[in-house]
Amino acid sequence: MNTGPAGRTGHFREVRRGITKPTVFLNGEFLPYEKAVVPVEDRGFVFADGIYEVIRVYGGRMFRADDHMTRLQRSAASIALPLPMSTGELLKVAEELVRRDNLDEASIYLQVTRGPAPRSHTFPAEVHPTVVGWARPATPPAASYIENGASAITLPDERWLRCDVKSVGLLLNTIGKQKAVEAGAYDALFIRDGYLTEATSSNAMAVFGGKIYTHPLNNLVLPGITRKTVLELCEKLGIPVVEEAVPAAELARAEEIFITGTVTEVLAITMLDGRPVGTGKPGPVFRKLHEAFVRFSRGQ
Ligand code: PMP
Repeated sequence: MNTGPAGRTGHFREVRRGITKPTVFLNGEFLPYEKAVVPVEDRGFVFADGIYEVIRVYGGRMFRADDHMTRLQRSAASIALPLPMSTGELLKVAEELVRRDNLDEASIYLQVTRGPAPRSHTFPAEVHPTVVGWARPATPPAASYIENGASAITLPDERWLRCDVKSVGLLLNTIGKQKAVEAGAYDALFIRDGYLTEATSSNAMAVFGGKIYTHPLNNLVLPGITRKTVLELCEKLGIPVVEEAVPAAELARAEEIFITGTVTEVLAITMLDGRPVGTGKPGPVFRKLHEAFVRFSRGQ
């Protein structure tokens, strides 16, 4: 906890907002942070045997909650994990977490694991899933990022072949982000077999000839809710979209690159591997979409 400069910054930011220890939902109870304890042999801890969702709250209201619940169900089914609560019940929990901590702008984290059992690769005969959730204050990316864009590096995508499952097994995502930060960049774009897949916690899009290219939905990328929202906005705005993977070799001549995610929203990547993307400033397609996304997500 709070070992590096980034951790400390995050910590102090929360102290200023007055919330360091959110209320935690754990298996049916709302508990103070310190009281929410999970057994050491929980399979989420031992095997990363679990799935999760992050839902953004704008002005006290969850954004695209149903889409998040549909994806949670799909992730659970993909790893043969029975959800011990209905999605309706989970949404009530999510709402209650926001209410109890009196949050307006927040991100809600929900996780379900295959629960505690003596360590053995085989699933336990009787599964008692662990359900946890909490909410923390959230803010959009800083205005300077929206104005100037962010930088990224490319990294080989060495993750497993089920990146469509929102698994808590995020080690290579965290290593990718850490490498980016150590290289002085904001994020990393993953390259698999010569093609751009996604970023460490966002989907990726690139603009060529005014058209947006993004990886098709398959096992190599997460079906992002923000990606879906942005593609819907493209349809409304008449921006052409091609769901085709972009060869890494073409990235140097992209007019624009941007990433999309629940916490990231829509963010321009204006520097890639130390070279400017397009003009080196956020481009017109990004600007249009960012504005539309902000308006839509805040319900204006
Ligand atoms: N890809 C990865 C690897 C992610 O972790 C995320 C964040 N959930 C996304 C894409 C974006 O998904 P969403 O827009 O649903 O947050």
